[in-house]
Amino acid sequence: MRDSPPDNDCPSNDSNARDDESVESSRRSFLQRSGTGLAAAVAAAASGTAWAAGPSIAEQNAVKLSLIQDPDTEQKEETPDANAAPSDRIGYAIVGLGRLSLNQILPALAQCKYSRVTALVSGDRDKALKIARQYGVPERDVHDYSTFERLANNPRVQVVYIVLPNGMHAEFTVRAARIGKHVLCEKPMANSVAECQSMIDACQQAQKLLMIAYRSQYEAMDRMIVKMVREKKLGTLSEFIAGNSQNVGDPTQWRLKKALAGGGPLPDVGIYCLNAARFLTGEEPNEAIATVYRPDDDPRFKEVEQSVHFVLRFPSGITATCMASYGSHESRFFRLQGSQGWAEMNPAFGYNALSMRHGMRVDGKNATTEITVDPTNQFAHEIDHMSQCVLSDTRPHTPGEEGLQDQRVVEAIYKSARTGRPVQIAPPVTSTRGADPAEEVF
Ligand code: NAD
Repeated sequence: MRDSPPDNDCPSNDSNARDDESVESSRRSFLQRSGTGLAAAVAAAASGTAWAAGPSIAEQNAVKLSLIQDPDTEQKEETPDANAAPSDRIGYAIVGLGRLSLNQILPALAQCKYSRVTALVSGDRDKALKIARQYGVPERDVHDYSTFERLANNPRVQVVYIVLPNGMHAEFTVRAARIGKHVLCEKPMANSVAECQSMIDACQQAQKLLMIAYRSQYEAMDRMIVKMVREKKLGTLSEFIAGNSQNVGDPTQWRLKKALAGGGPLPDVGIYCLNAARFLTGEEPNEAIATVYRPDDDPRFKEVEQSVHFVLRFPSGITATCMASYGSHESRFFRLQGSQGWAEMNPAFGYNALSMRHGMRVDGKNATTEITVDPTNQFAHEIDHMSQCVLSDTRPHTPGEEGLQDQRVVEAIYKSARTGRPVQIAPPVTSTRGADPAEEVF
């Protein structure tokens, strides 16, 4: 086997089923639902993955209960997967215990079906030990950045999840691959195309999976819009318009340091607009036209831009017009327009409280429909997708190549802003996405 408060990236305010088939079939049904089936089971068995070794204690003790509802008319009862016992789940080492890890990722891991936290890596041992006690991680599995390589000896860690400042993603991805671990890395993938390529190369060489944590691509409403586009419900696409902004506070934070952040709002929050323009349309931009603004007298913007505006052109004629700012009140939205309709999210890109609408002609009249979806945890979906990929040895939906392509566009945007000219973008040399995430999570 290859073997921000309240809900966005930027800490501007800085506060810190079961029926008579029985549970016995749940592992099998997971594989089927995730579209991997027998091949995945064989691959997992070959890899020595824990659950493939034989039935777990939960599976051996499965109790069959008869159905009391009419199966022809009633919906099957949904229950948590009783077979996803902690020892069967894919183990994650969380590297970097900042806001995202503490406020989102660790709580989400507790909601995951196929994933669990098994180690922590932090520069602050006292903080890490407190968190380890909270999440049941043994003290021996708490490391610092210099003892990171000790994770190699821990078979309970299969994936290293990198949640460090952007400028540290490449180093820790390469180090994780070299000790034989799969990598889930936060967005943006890194600070340069060269760094992104080194991460892909290291994981390929080690025959390990690399996924970039583009959580919006695992979010239910975004996936609905992808489906609408594929089914041509909006007709021929013409424009995508998006914005992602919020005011940043503390001028000393790493997000305002070029070496650690790679740029200002563009790689941090603008990347949501850019990535959405690509995955919602299913096309790759071939030209970028951009401008950035950096005030001379604001101590926050000594090294990075305050705001960026960019237009991307796509081969079919679609344009994406996007802005991202660290200097205006929290605002996150997008609208995708086509010849027969539009779909929008406002708010978009956040962790929760998202809202979607679409408009099209129905029965001779223009109709607007508001979509509501039961809120679910995007981080849990995203992390479980990575675990499913590890279990089935499948390329993630958002692999390293997806992050690399965004970085190529980011560099074209900055170049256009610098030169005042449009910058051409060559198409990616390989596909940038793996198969869609399993529908079971939505
Ligand atoms: P944060 O500042 O809250 O945490 C960063 C962690 O890295 C801290 O524990 C800090 O101690 C540690 N660190 C190690 N070396 C450091 C250094 N030299 N300078 C500063 N910190 C250092 O940041 P965060 O909000 O948790 O972001 C971490 C990563 O997650 C970033 O790549 C960010 O883009 C990404 N992120 C993604 C989302 C999302 O929705 N997917 C949301 C927020 C952040």
